[in-house]
Parts: sequence; C-alpha cells; structure tokens
Amino acid sequence: MVNPSAFRLPVLPLFRYLSSIQPPAPNAAPARKIIHVDMDCFYAAVEERERPDLRGRPLGVGGSRERRGVLTTCNYEARKYGVKSAMPTFMALARCPQLVIVPTNFDLYRAESARVRAIFREYTPLVEPLSLDEAYLDVSHLPQPATDIAREIRDRIFAVTGLTASAGIAPNKMLAKIASDLNKPNGQHTVKPAAIAAFMVALPVNRIHGIGEVTARRLADEIAVQTCGQLQAFGRDDLRARFGKFGADLYDRCRGIDSRPVEPARIRKSLSNENTFDENLTTLAQCRERLAGLHADLLTDLEKQERIRPVSKLFVKLKFADFSHTTVERGGTEPALPAYEVLLAEGWQRREEKRRVVRLLGVGVRFQLADQSEPETIPKQNSHPNQLVFGL
Ligand SMILES: [Mg+2]
Repeated sequence: MVNPSAFRLPVLPLFRYLSSIQPPAPNAAPARKIIHVDMDCFYAAVEERERPDLRGRPLGVGGSRERRGVLTTCNYEARKYGVKSAMPTFMALARCPQLVIVPTNFDLYRAESARVRAIFREYTPLVEPLSLDEAYLDVSHLPQPATDIAREIRDRIFAVTGLTASAGIAPNKMLAKIASDLNKPNGQHTVKPAAIAAFMVALPVNRIHGIGEVTARRLADEIAVQTCGQLQAFGRDDLRARFGKFGADLYDRCRGIDSRPVEPARIRKSLSNENTFDENLTTLAQCRERLAGLHADLLTDLEKQERIRPVSKLFVKLKFADFSHTTVERGGTEPALPAYEVLLAEGWQRREEKRRVVRLLGVGVRFQLADQSEPETIPKQNSHPNQLVFGL
C-alpha cells in the first residue's frame, strides 16, 4: 500500500515554487524617472541679465546684418514679431526693425552652463548634456517624485544664475523632451506612465525628434498621417519598408516607447563638418570656396564645445564622384583656414590621375586624448537639415 504522505511533503514546496514564478509583466522594467531641462532662450537670457537696459526689448544674439550674419537665438519679445533662431539677421530686421542685435559671447554662456550642470550633478551623476542649455537627467534612484525634483532644480538654477529653465518629466527621454516644451517659458510638465497612451494619440508626428519637415510631409502625403495616434495604425514592417530603420523606431516612438538610456559619458574624439553638394565640384577654386563655408561652420561648432581638451590634428576629407575618398591629415592646434587650404590642395592632387570630380568635402579637428581607453567618438548630430531627417 502506498503511503499518501510520501507524496504530500513535496507538494507544498512545489506549490510555493510554482506560485513564485510570475509571468513577465508587459512592462517588467521599473519605470524610469527622466527629466529634460531646457534653459529659456539661454543666450538671449544671459545677455539680458548682463544688460538690464535690454530687458523688455526685442533682442537677437548673433551675427550682424553687415556681415551676413545669422541669429543664434532671440528672446520672446522678438519672437512676437516672427523672429526665430537660425534666421538670417537681415530677415529678422525686416520683420522687426527695432530688434537689438548683440554678438555671441560663448565664454560667458559656457561658464553659465557649467554652473547649471553643477546643480544637476548635485542630484544625479546621470546627466547627459545635449548642448550648453539642455540636458537629460536620470533621477530614477531618488525617492522623491521627479516632478518635485524638477521644480527644485529650476528654483536652484534661478537662485544661482538668475535665469529661468523649463522642464519635462517622463519615464523616457523622448517624452521628457517633448514635455519640456509644453509649459515654456519657466514652466514644467509631467507625463506619468498611465497618461502616455492618451498623450500620444493627439500628439502631432512632427513633435517626435527626427521627424523633420520632409518626413512630416511624406507621412501626410503618402499615408495621410498627422498625429501619432494615426501612425499607430501602421505595422512595424510596413513602416520599416517605407522609412528604413527609422521606420522601426517610429513604430515605438509613436506609442511613447523609448528605451534609450541617459548617457553621461559623451566624450568626443573629433568634430567635423561635411557636405555633399548638389552639383559636383570640378575645380580647385570651387572646392576652396566651399571649404571656406564649411570651415566657418566648424569654427562656430568648436566655439560651442566645452574645450576640455585641445585640438591636436586638422583634417580635410574629399569624396569623389566614383565614391572613392581620401582624408588628408596634419598635426596642428590652430584650426585656421590657410592650414585647411593646404590640406585641400594636397587632397585635390590625389584626384589627378583619374580626373575625378568632388561630390563631398569635409573639414574637421581631432582632439588630444588624455586617456587612450576613452570610448569611441559619438558622431556629431549633424546640423544640416537634409541629413537630420532620419537622424533619430
Ligand atoms: Mg533652450
């Protein structure tokens, strides 16, 4: 006869074991708490603080009309007249003749930016700067609600610098960045996990980072999509077929899904600026002319850098019509135009035997590396609108 108790003993542990296994919840990862902080009209606000006589007047920061300059930023007074960042100064003055233009002072903006970042780091080591006036913070590890942390950080920024900031608070970077725009200036907005679905349905697709004018128009023209809710009707494979890898990202983004981590260690090994031309360049003189423009943009980009490390090399890159390419590189610490012209002439020589024409030119610098074990370069987010379209 079988003793039933022989079976009874393991049953309870087995039951406990089975009941301890839980099917993975759809959102098994703990919700993250991400804050996107964005200073309000940063450069213009710094200038106004320095010069109280400018307060309340429409103000643009950037190059003068005489030097065919472009505005880097402008204040809210100026925006009322339709003046925008990246607008040529002559156009801004046509819209707002009383606009005051002051030149950029990046040394001052960098110093203010450093004070703001020091405040961020009092709360978390996970700070990812996007530019001098914007950063993501991951505060998942802190017990307080992220909404309160964001308010406190904005108060601290104002107390220390006299400047206002706006913030977006959400479980991921994409939503936090969208949210920081919603109560600008000097405000904040929180998107809680339970509110994401409703938030996304009505959101215009062009609020998703990476959807520029061109993609927005394609979505409207080809599949009659204007909102993220409408985009949700399309399958991942369908979107990939239409938009490549970016299409697969779109599938997630329009649902408010973004698992990108906040990456604090953005160490750049090089900085460059390149352009593919609509028409190939057939003479060295044409190349020189284009080189000057690329070089001017490179200097502007360099100016915005934090210059933690000095420049150690200069390079020029040429891509020819047959898609072959060459890079000419020299040691140097001063990225001056004449040095680049010498490199260009050398690269131009290399095309001689095949009489190739140039389809792309690039100019850049490499930075001195303090430590060879540093991570790989993170490519610069290109400022050319036509290359930004799919650059999520
Ligand atoms: Mg800003």
